[in-house]
Amino acid sequence: MSAQAAAAEVSPLEPTPVGRCQHCRLFAWQRERARDAGDAVTVANMNDQLRRHPHRRFSDWRAK
Ligand SMILES: [Zn+2]
Repeated sequence: MSAQAAAAEVSPLEPTPVGRCQHCRLFAWQRERARDAGDAVTVANMNDQLRRHPHRRFSDWRAK
C-alpha cells in the first residue's frame, strides 16, 4: 500500500465533531464504524451530517 492511498482514505478535510455536541459524536462514531465496514456511502453521509450540523456557542444563547 502506498502512502498516497493511505492519505486518501482519511482526508484531512473531513469534518470533525464539535466538542460537546452529542449529535456530532454520534455521527463521528457511525462514520468510523462505516469506515471499518468499508461503507463509503455512509462515511460520506456522516461527513455531510457533521458538516451541516448547526452549532451555536453556549454564550450566543445567553446573549439573547
Ligand atoms: Zn453537532
